Amino acid sequence: MTQLEQAPGQVPRRGLENRAEVVVDLDAIAANTAALRERVARPLMAVVKADGYGHGLLPAARAVLAGGADALGVAVLEEALALRAAGVTVPVLAWLNGPGEDYAAALAADVEVSVNAEWGLAEVVAAARGTGRTARVHLSTDTGLSREGATPADWPGLVAAAARAQADGEVAVVGLWSHLAYADAPTHPTIAAQVRVFEEATTLARDAGLTDARRHLANSAATIALPNTWFDMVRPGVALYGLDPLGGEPAQSGLRPAMTVQARVILTKRVPAGVGVSYGHTYQPARETTLALVPVGYADGVPRAAGNRAPVLAAGAQRPIAGRVCMDQFVLDVGDDPIAPGDPVVLWGPGAAGEPTAQQWADAVDTIHYELVTQVGGRFRRRYVGTAGVR
Ligand SMILES: *Cc1c(COP(=O)(O)O)cnc(C)c1O
Repeated sequence: MTQLEQAPGQVPRRGLENRAEVVVDLDAIAANTAALRERVARPLMAVVKADGYGHGLLPAARAVLAGGADALGVAVLEEALALRAAGVTVPVLAWLNGPGEDYAAALAADVEVSVNAEWGLAEVVAAARGTGRTARVHLSTDTGLSREGATPADWPGLVAAAARAQADGEVAVVGLWSHLAYADAPTHPTIAAQVRVFEEATTLARDAGLTDARRHLANSAATIALPNTWFDMVRPGVALYGLDPLGGEPAQSGLRPAMTVQARVILTKRVPAGVGVSYGHTYQPARETTLALVPVGYADGVPRAAGNRAPVLAAGAQRPIAGRVCMDQFVLDVGDDPIAPGDPVVLWGPGAAGEPTAQQWADAVDTIHYELVTQVGGRFRRRYVGTAGVR
């Protein structure tokens, strides 16, 4: 074996106070919200489910409200109750409700709930009777996603039951909504078909007396690309965090990505050509090189599929992860470029400083950026920058 030269910069330059962090730009979230709100010129329900798409439920909620959001949307009731417990007072809708949901708690906290079926409405009505409060309800209609919502066959029965409950003062139907299957493909024929079914369903509901309900259909992609889906309110999520649901990069979309995922190198070493790197030795450098060890892995939400595929900014250039991503760590090959323990690397961010974007990572690991930002966590620490929504 040849004697390896000791490259400069292999001893630490600084400590590890920021070993691995997710930096969230609250001002970016507020600016994206304001831009979309201005574009649609109608109420905007900001979706902050799944811990604010991995950006933090409360900071994200406060930032979208600072940006002009009119209401908040979450999947499950616990998320809505957490918002209320933290003092958020705007309308909040929880739409993913199953049998036995604690609707009494929802009513006590003034949380709006969505209903898919007559049995669900009956549970809400029972809670309204039990608490003496009127439940604010959104009725969900399945227009072709075959996910939430009543089918066209079941819709008239649900509407009739809701109209009776509204006449009795037990519920106030404040929303009529559905969700698109193909909004990220704005010319797809299913969109016009779903809009048509939605119009029929909402007309039927209005004719049955549910005239005060806002109609809402548009997710982020539809909010950006499909004005004919905006109806009375839009319901974007991912775009608020600066990620383009249509797969574009930030420069094209005009959105400001709010999340930067970074870590610090904890060890560097010179190795000869041909060494095997990480489990299974799936990477072997062709020449003598410098390896850098990064202390995050799949337990922290860095997908294992990123091994040998996803790019990371290190020592001034993007480099694919060398070999497999492990539970707690992965390796980079930086060639002869200078790097030292403590130096920063960036997995993804806005892309403005040469780092990869979440879209680039999504392409590399064959997923969508939604999955990346909602999974990153584990031992990453979250740090907020910007002032939007900060008291
Ligand atoms: C998640 C979700 C949204 C937001 O979707 P984006 O693509 O992130 O804008 C809107 N409506 C429903 C029902 C959802 O589940």
